[in-house]
Amino acid sequence: TNVWRDVPPGPPDAILGIAQAFRECTAENKVNVCVGAYRDEKGQPWVLPSVRSAEEIMLSSENKEYLPIEGDAAFVNKALRFAYGANAPLDRIAGVQTLSGTGACRIGGEFLSQFYSSKNILVPDPTWGNHHKIFKECGLTVGTYRYYDRSTNRLDLQGMLEDLRNAPDGSTILLHACAHNPTGCDPTDEQWDQLLDVIRQKQHLIFFDSAYQGFASGDAEADAKALRRVMDAGYPMLLAQSFAKNFGLYGERCGTLSVVCHDVAQKDILMSQLKCIVRPMYSSPPKHGSSIVRTVLSDEKLTQQYYQECASMADRIQTMRQRLVQALQNVGSSHDWSHISEQIGMFAFTGMSAEMCDTLTDQYNIFLTRDGRISIAGLNDDNLGYVAKAIHSVTD
Ligand code: PLP
Repeated sequence: TNVWRDVPPGPPDAILGIAQAFRECTAENKVNVCVGAYRDEKGQPWVLPSVRSAEEIMLSSENKEYLPIEGDAAFVNKALRFAYGANAPLDRIAGVQTLSGTGACRIGGEFLSQFYSSKNILVPDPTWGNHHKIFKECGLTVGTYRYYDRSTNRLDLQGMLEDLRNAPDGSTILLHACAHNPTGCDPTDEQWDQLLDVIRQKQHLIFFDSAYQGFASGDAEADAKALRRVMDAGYPMLLAQSFAKNFGLYGERCGTLSVVCHDVAQKDILMSQLKCIVRPMYSSPPKHGSSIVRTVLSDEKLTQQYYQECASMADRIQTMRQRLVQALQNVGSSHDWSHISEQIGMFAFTGMSAEMCDTLTDQYNIFLTRDGRISIAGLNDDNLGYVAKAIHSVTD
């Protein structure tokens, strides 16, 4: 008997489905500017030399035992200091190792669903598409706040303030810690002042998603500024941290979820509950990625080397960003592309319509998401001129 006869096909993932289409495309001139993964100047994935060095050390020192439910405590300790700063009050931050940023959002969402009074979470419009699905799966009600004004290609501060004011008191507000995906547009210090005022008045709970620390400016300390400021000001907050992009550990699935607590005793209670969430989901996290991060961040020389390598990725992206704008001008585009120059992080949020994106894919074999987002790391000397010409032809 055919027991699965009535199962309908699921829809392809908005981003990973396009990556699949790219792999299947046989055209020689195809370009992948879809997925947010770093590529070197030859278009190849790059394993950081500091990561390779850590792996060499690990080869003779690491076994394959299970990690505890909460993960590698020494890794979590280093990871939280990386995010919250060297002097962070770790004795009152409950933190567990997670399956990268996605897993961190999921554990955080499950925790909120079980233990937080409000079941409303507001995510930016637009945001990383998976946020909607993750928090819905957790049983939360996912709403949006205005974030980006497509008519000016800039932050919609007034819209955002208004939506935060109109949300029910005590809602959870998901904020990107830096290098907002997909817009590349972060609030300035003064804008953070205004946002935090409203968040305090409304007693909202902040959930930071930090997937690009170090990747935005090249300096992990600078990129943690907003998060540390919120922490220091005593706001209640959660943090989902990913090491996929900044350490290039995509497939190793390495991250943390942490909750800032009132005191040490509360941290112990929350740790016990976080473990109760993890155990029936996957028992314990994978070991390789967290051992790499722990090894790098435990060795002063490797840490320094790592910081330089991370900065070199950010630099290449920043250079390609400016070169894309220049290349668009060189091929005769008279559009105002200044927003692309101003954006930060991995992406250029071009402002192209879904139809324009479709044309880029159908006629030029350039694969990108339909929101007009281009992963700058996918650009290099070989394809930059081609991509610029194609963008000019669809936006002219
Ligand atoms: N959060 C944001 C904003 C992202 O852009 C991403 C990845 O693209 C993630 C979280 C999670 O990625 P991962 O699960 O690979 O760490």
